[in-house]
This record gives sequence, C-alpha cells and structure tokens, in this order.
Amino acid sequence: MPGHNAQTLVIQHGTLIDGSGRPAVANEAIVIEGNRIRSVGRLPADVRVEDQDAVHVIDATGQWIMPGLIDGHCHLSFGMPQMGPVASARGTTNPGFTALRAARNAQQVLRSGVTSIAVPGGTWFIDVALRDAITVGLLEGPRIACAGNFIVTYGSIIDNEPSWVGTPEHSIGVLANNVDAMITEVRRQCKNGVDFIKLADSTWGDTQTIAPEELAAVAQEAHRRQVRVTIHSRGAGSTRAAAEAGLDWILHADLATAEELDVVAEAGVPLMPTMTFLQHALEVGHQFGRGPRELDFIKRNWDSAVGMLERARALGITILCGTDSGNSPLMPYGQLHAHEPEILVRYGGYTPLEAIAACTRNNAFVIGLEHELGILEAGRLADIILLDSDPLADIRVLQGGQHLAMVIKDGRVMDLNGAADTEPALAFAAPAQA
Ligand SMILES: [Zn+2]
Repeated sequence: MPGHNAQTLVIQHGTLIDGSGRPAVANEAIVIEGNRIRSVGRLPADVRVEDQDAVHVIDATGQWIMPGLIDGHCHLSFGMPQMGPVASARGTTNPGFTALRAARNAQQVLRSGVTSIAVPGGTWFIDVALRDAITVGLLEGPRIACAGNFIVTYGSIIDNEPSWVGTPEHSIGVLANNVDAMITEVRRQCKNGVDFIKLADSTWGDTQTIAPEELAAVAQEAHRRQVRVTIHSRGAGSTRAAAEAGLDWILHADLATAEELDVVAEAGVPLMPTMTFLQHALEVGHQFGRGPRELDFIKRNWDSAVGMLERARALGITILCGTDSGNSPLMPYGQLHAHEPEILVRYGGYTPLEAIAACTRNNAFVIGLEHELGILEAGRLADIILLDSDPLADIRVLQGGQHLAMVIKDGRVMDLNGAADTEPALAFAAPAQA
C-alpha cells in the first residue's frame, strides 16, 4: 500500500462490545490498518496472521474489547494539580507552565483508557495548542476537541473576582455583557482555533445570567463559522432558553423540571449531566475546602439531577457522559473519567451496555467525530481498549484504568507506563481554593 508503513494490527478472540449498543459478541478478528479499522468479524483472505513482518497479532483471549472511552467534560488547563511552591492565581501561573502541566494531565487521561476528551473551557488557548501538539505527534495524548475561555456575563460562574480586579488574563472566563461583545468574542475564539464555544450561566443555577437573545446570537455566529456551542447551565430557565436558542448540547441541567425537559426533548438537544462532579464533591468536598453552604447547594442539585436523569431517559433525550475532571483539586486526572456511566446505571436506570454506548457512540458527537469515532466498525478510527474483566457484569471495571490491558489510539498501541503515572511530589500540597 503506497505511503503506508504502519504494520497491520489484528486483534483476535476476546469479547467485543462495539459501542453501538448492540450486545457483546465473540470476536473473531478486528483488522487495523494505519489509524482506521479495516474490518470487524471474519479475517479478510489477504491478511495472513502468520506473516509476522507485516502483521502484528494481539491475542485478546479472556479479554473484553471496546471503543476507547470518551470523557465529554474534562478540563486540562485550569492549573490542576496545584503545586505548593509554584506561584498561582486561581490555579494558573503563566501560559508556559500551565501548558506543560496540561500536557502531563493529558497523558494521565490517556493512560486510564480515555482516548478522547472534550474540553469545555480553559485558560488562554492552551487546550488548542495541546490538541494540535497531539495531532501532529509532538506528544502522546487523547484526541481533544476544545473550547476557549467561558463566555460569561456579570454574575455568571467564574465572574467572582472583586470588581476592582476585573477579569484577569489568567481567568477561565471572559466577560461579555451584551450581544455585540459576545459576537466579537466568538469571532476571536474561532480565529484562535477552538472547536466549540462554551457559554456559562450562574454557578449553581439560582439566577439566569444570559439572556435568550444573547444565546441565540452566539449560536447563530458560531454555527455560521461551523463551530458548535455548549453551555454550563444548572438552572431550569437557562436550560430551557439554551434548548430554544439551538445550542448543540447542554451541560448539567441539574434543576430542569419536567416542563423544561419537554422543551429539550422537543428541540432534540443532548444533555450532559456531569453528575460525577456533584457526587464526588459530596463525598470528599469537605477535605478540599468546600464549606457547608456550598455543599448544601451541591446536595440540592444532586437530588434534583437524579430526578432529571430519570425523566430525560423517559423522554428519550440523548445523554452524554462527562465528569468535570480537572475543574478543581478534588477532581484528579486519570481516576474519575468513567464514573459517569456508573451513575447512569445506578441512578438513571441504564443498562451497562447503554451506559457504555453513552460514553462512546453518543460522546463521539462532542468530539465532532460522530461518524468516525465511538463504534468499532469498518472505516472508523481505531481507538480501542482491552479490559481483563467484563464491564457488562460490573460497569466499575471501566474506572481508573484498573482493568486496562491495552490502549490503542489512532491504530497505535500506547505505552501505559510513562512518567505521568507517578504524581509529582508536590501535587495537591497547596491549600484548596474555593
Ligand atoms: Zn466544567
């Protein structure tokens, strides 16, 4: 094959969970050429597994084969993990140091079996740079689809610096308080190469901080530039308005009731509840400086989100899986990316097979590769994981890379034992910030 110097990879035997939602089947052979799957099922007649120079055979006997996991909500450049002696403001210090730390974070994510992530917001355009560095092969990491700074108004999440500080350069958010400012910011972010726009309403959903006409204007401008739009929306009103404005997916929706979910279902907009963060904050938040008042908000939102998840399933709303890993010191890399499917099973009434499809097939949409990723079938990109235990028997098998036997990304077997596996000595040494 001209220009093709990678070996053919063949995965034989094992149990195939293809990510489409179809039941598991015995795997005969998955043939990978270059970075794509050539065939799934019967071994093509021209592939000779005994030809060891041309064909690399992986024996998956006793293992489970799945698409690489996708975490649809993971932040890389918020300045986590915090490191005591490094000067920081809200976690970040300067673009250079933050970029290097983000690169390391990305490697930890990949080594836990997560081959793609959507990054809904970061500092400077570090995530864009990291995405490109991984794409051209400067370093190993997951596929990245990313936004830039959150677009926020006064009172939105992230706008919590004192007014005399304004919105500092290292901030995760950028203030845009009217339609003109928002359109200008969308254009600036598109010029800098983002894959999608992230808007952000209020922190816990108690007030609605972005007007419907602002949402509509952002959606129109972004879509004209072929960029999608999502929003941090925990509130009922903001969730309804986001669906009506034609945003592409909605993050959280904690406080949405049956009334707003009817609008979401009618509009056909997918939801990404991201309940992993709420659950984990309730478990360990007090150890990371989250006070009782904030934990009360989180408990209220969790309780509401459980009902929202059940209702969304009943309405046939597409559910996406995200965790908010890297949003704060309590959300470490490489550990929580597959907790959301467990939540779908335990609280949403999903089968493990459906939960897996949510974080592979469904999540391919937020990477912008819904026709190329997330399902193991001929023609798709070869992002594959092998597990030594059955995730359909216990969905927690997916978590933290504990049962990971192999990660293949873009047709290449990844090294799971890199330096990023060990925590830097000073990680998490700094006191938690609110
Ligand atoms: Zn987030």
